[in-house]
Amino acid sequence: MPQRQETLMEPKMNNGNGHGHGCAIVNGRSRTNNCTSDEVIEWFEQVSQKGGSVQKEILSQILKQNHGAEYVKKWLGYHNIQEMDSSALESLFTSVVPISSHADFEPFIQRIADGDTNPLLTQQPITTLSLSSGTTEGRQKFVPFTRHSAQTTLQIFTLAAAYRSRIYPIREGGKILEFIYSSNTFKTKGGLTVGTATTHYYASEEFKIKQEQTKSFTCSPAEVISGGDYKQSTYCHLLLGLFFSDQVEFITSAFVYSIIQAFRSFQELWCEICNDIRSGSLSSRVKLPKMRKAVLEIISPNPILASKLENICKELELVDWFGLIPKLWPNAKYVYSIMTGSMLPYVTKLRHYANGLPLVSADYGSTESWIGVNVDPSLPPEKVTFAVVPTFSYFEFIPLYRHNKQEDYRSIVADDFIEDKPIPLSQVKAGQEYEIVLTTFTGLYRCRLGDVVEVAGFHNGTPKLNFVCRRKLILTVNIDKNTEKDLQLVVEKGSQLLKRAKKAELVDFTSYAHVSNEPGHYVIFWEIDGYAEDSLLEACCTEMDASFADHGYVVSRKTKSIGPLELCIVERGTFKKILDNFIANGAALSQFKTPRCTSNHGMLNILRACALKKFRSTAYNT
Ligand code: AMP
Repeated sequence: MPQRQETLMEPKMNNGNGHGHGCAIVNGRSRTNNCTSDEVIEWFEQVSQKGGSVQKEILSQILKQNHGAEYVKKWLGYHNIQEMDSSALESLFTSVVPISSHADFEPFIQRIADGDTNPLLTQQPITTLSLSSGTTEGRQKFVPFTRHSAQTTLQIFTLAAAYRSRIYPIREGGKILEFIYSSNTFKTKGGLTVGTATTHYYASEEFKIKQEQTKSFTCSPAEVISGGDYKQSTYCHLLLGLFFSDQVEFITSAFVYSIIQAFRSFQELWCEICNDIRSGSLSSRVKLPKMRKAVLEIISPNPILASKLENICKELELVDWFGLIPKLWPNAKYVYSIMTGSMLPYVTKLRHYANGLPLVSADYGSTESWIGVNVDPSLPPEKVTFAVVPTFSYFEFIPLYRHNKQEDYRSIVADDFIEDKPIPLSQVKAGQEYEIVLTTFTGLYRCRLGDVVEVAGFHNGTPKLNFVCRRKLILTVNIDKNTEKDLQLVVEKGSQLLKRAKKAELVDFTSYAHVSNEPGHYVIFWEIDGYAEDSLLEACCTEMDASFADHGYVVSRKTKSIGPLELCIVERGTFKKILDNFIANGAALSQFKTPRCTSNHGMLNILRACALKKFRSTAYNT
C-alpha cells in the first residue's frame, strides 16, 4: 500500500511501545510525542474525506490478513486475493460472501471457545471473547475480542475527546468521575477469557494509556471498577467522586443508565458517604477486601469537606435533588455518556440532576465494532449524530423501506421493513434508513448488527448516522408492528400527563405482548416515583393506547382484534430487582439496557410479583 494511505489507517499515535497509540489531547495542545488533538482531528478529517477508498483498503486488509481462516477460505478460497487490488476484492467479496447474522458465526465461535486453535475466523488465534449485553436481544452473544478491539476503543475515545476539548476544554491533570463496572470474567472449556467488551477494555493497557494521554484520571482505582459487585462499586465511585469533588472535570459512564442509578442510590446513601469522608473510614456495606483496602489507601479524614457536602445535600433534598451535579461537582464541565436510543428516556432525569450543565452524547458502537464518533458535542442528545469512522471495520448498509402502512397492513411480516440490496458506505443517501452490516478485524464477515440508523448528513465523505432503534419488532400481536422507538414515543406521550400533574415521575418501563388470551393486547409496565391518582394513571393508559401510530395496531384496535392496552404499575424498586436479576445471570452494569419488551420468564415473574395496580385503556371504546 502506498505510504500515504498507510498513515491514514490509524492516527499517528506512538506511545513508544510499538503499539502506536500515544497521543495526548487536552485543550488542543500537545502532551506527548507528536500528536495533538488538532492532529487527531486532522487525521479524521483526512480519512473521512476519502471514506469510500479507505473502506476498500480496510476490507482488503481484513481479508488479506485472514485469508487462511476457515470462514474466508470457504467463500474466497478459490481466488488469489493477495494479488487483487482493493476495488476488485470489494466486488468479489460482496458478490460471493453471503450476508449473515451472528447465528452463522456461532458454530465457529463455539469451536474457538472449546479450544480449537486452528484459524477459523481470523489468522491470529483468538484468546478472548466478549459477551454482548444481551439485554436488548434477550440472550448474550459471544463475540471475538482482540488487541484491535481495545485499540479502536482507545482511538474513538481519543478522537471524541479531541472534538469535546474544542468546545468544552478541561483542566489538565483533573479527575473524571466514571461510573464504570467490569463484569466477572470466566474461562471457557478451551481456556479463553470471557467478559464484556468494556470489562476487557478496563483491564487493558489502552485504558491506562487513555488516562495518561488525556491527563485525566478516573477517581476510582481498578479494584473498585473490577470488584464485581455493582452496589459496592457504586458506593465507592460516589465516595471517591465526592472526596475529589473539586477536581472532577466531567462525569461519565458507558450508558447513561448507570449515572441515573448511581444518583438514585446517592439520594439514599449521602449521609453514610459524608460520614466516611468526615472520618476517613469506609462503610461496612463495602465488604470486598481488595476494594476496601484500595479505597482506604486513598481517602483520609476531611471534616470540612464532609460538612460542606452535608449542607449541600440537605438543601438538595428540599428541591428533589434538582441540580445535584453542579452543586456537588462545581468544576464539572459536562456529563458524557451514551444518551441516545434506548437511553433517551433517562435524559429527563439527567437534565434534572444537571441543571443546564452540557450533556454530551457519547459515541456509537457495539461489542462487535465501534462505528461512529460524535463530532458535534454541543448538540443535545435528541439531535446528535455519529460520523462513521471508516477505519474501524468494513461497513455496509442495507436500505430499509417502511411498509406502506395504508396498503400493506394486512401482510403479516417478520418486521416493519422491506429491504434492498446492501450498499457500501460511499453510496448511502441522506434521509434514508439502513441496517448496518459489519465485516470486522475480529472475524465477522458481512454480519448484520440489527440496528436501524438513518443517514442524517455527511462529515466530509463519511455518513453521519442517527441511531433509530434496534431492528427487531418488539410489540406485535397480529398485523401490528411496533419497534422499540414506537414504544418509546408512546410512553413519552403518556408520561407527559404525569409530568404535567407534577406529582410523580416515570422511573423506568418495559412491555409485553399478551397473546395467551383472545384478543391479545399490549401490557406496559411502569415504575413511578411519587403519587398519582388512579384517574390520572387511567388517562395515561388511554393516552398511550391512542398514541400508537402503527396502522396495523389502529385497525386492530378499532376492529377489536387487539384488546385495550393495559398499564401495570409496579412497586418502587422493581427495575432494580430486574437489574439485579440480569447481573446475577452474567450481565454487566456498564452495558445494561433495560429490555423495552420482554418474554423473559425471570423478568416477567418479577414484574408480576411486583404489580400494584392495573388499568385498561378506554381509547377506541366508541
Ligand atoms: P452491546 O450489547 O453492549 O454490544 O450493545 C450494543 C448496542 O447498543 C448497539 O448495537 C446499539 O443498539 C446500542 N448502542 C450503542 N451505542 C449507542 C448509541 N450511541 N446510541 C444508541 N444506541 C447505542
